[in-house]
Amino acid sequence: MGPGSVTAGDPFGAAPAEPGLASVPADNPPSSDILGLYVHVPFCAKRCGYCSFNTAPLEDGAMARYLEALHREIDLLGALPWAARVRLATVFMGGGTPSLMAAEDLAAALDRIRARFAVAEDAEITVECNPESVTRQKLEGYRVAGVNRLSLGVQSLDDSILPRLGRLHDARGARAAFEAAREAGCANLSVDLMYGLPGLDIDGWTRAVDAVLDWQPDHLSAYGLTLDAGSLWGAAGIDGLPAEQEQIDQYWRLARAAAAHGLEHYEISNYARPRFRSRHNQIYWHAAEYLAAGPGACGFVGSARYANVRATPRYCQTLADGVLPVASAEQLSSRQRLGERLILGLRTADGVPATWLEARLDGAPDLRRRIETWRAQALLVDAGDRVRLTEAGFLLSDALFVELL
Ligand code: SF4
Repeated sequence: MGPGSVTAGDPFGAAPAEPGLASVPADNPPSSDILGLYVHVPFCAKRCGYCSFNTAPLEDGAMARYLEALHREIDLLGALPWAARVRLATVFMGGGTPSLMAAEDLAAALDRIRARFAVAEDAEITVECNPESVTRQKLEGYRVAGVNRLSLGVQSLDDSILPRLGRLHDARGARAAFEAAREAGCANLSVDLMYGLPGLDIDGWTRAVDAVLDWQPDHLSAYGLTLDAGSLWGAAGIDGLPAEQEQIDQYWRLARAAAAHGLEHYEISNYARPRFRSRHNQIYWHAAEYLAAGPGACGFVGSARYANVRATPRYCQTLADGVLPVASAEQLSSRQRLGERLILGLRTADGVPATWLEARLDGAPDLRRRIETWRAQALLVDAGDRVRLTEAGFLLSDALFVELL
């Protein structure tokens, strides 16, 4: 799944959803009539060592219980007082491993969404897939159901690294899944890779990057490994991580190879052929509004950010009780919104209006001096009436974002 899709809040699934919180989306009408919808599917066949997402092994009957609850949640979201005036421009099924869903179950969920919301005719409808859980037949079913974009979690093409990550596919299976997606008619196909992995050197990374680029994906996401506290590796540690300079070299190797293949580096971790940027993820980076469904999913409407109950049994029970499963919510102040819009916008190659940055620097002389240093080092550049980070700036952006918040 992509970054920022699922947040903390109710981390142990122990706290009951507060009935009052269920009114958060109802009482915060979106300022736009165009929204995205993120749907979280909280199951995987097995947990990967580096993963801190809200997911658990799929047990017997759990998918059916989840789907029943998801349909109820879509009904409740569709009954919000402002829902009739909005149109969904994107639907993103993330996880977890959404491709554990049978094609008919996915079709039923999308039908339910279309029954309760106006979905744009040209809506981008994405499903995240793991290679071992797809077949051409299943992906054809997804396409017939209306899915027009697939995101394939390849992560590595090294058969000695993949099992160590906890992945269930090998390099051959990854390639076969990519071909199955194309044969199933997928014309908008993204591949996820990871760098900075234990045991991954620059030669191995170069081989993986070159191989995947030769497949000619329409979109490529590449994330550097981070050891999050909620992951198995974050708790226990992991040996064999490449040195920092090696990780930097891996970042540049990909950036240059992607450019040579005509892919635009349009966000820190994302590359796309012209016209194939992820429309759904751009909603996040533009700090635009989106609804959330599924355990732990996070939404943003009006000035409210909210997150669903994370534990799937409680999520199902709350919906069985007829209540939206909102577990936490926060009203963002205008200053917080400005900070978020700045940081999210600076993740992208388009950057942000210079006036936004100027507003943040007003009365902050120390920060202004540091920004000037970034400009002098060509990490941040002016482009007309906008400012943006360069690729070198992307690499160091975390330090800047901490200061801008
Ligand atoms: S398949 Fe994806 S969501 Fe599932 S455990 Fe692995 S990284 Fe996490």
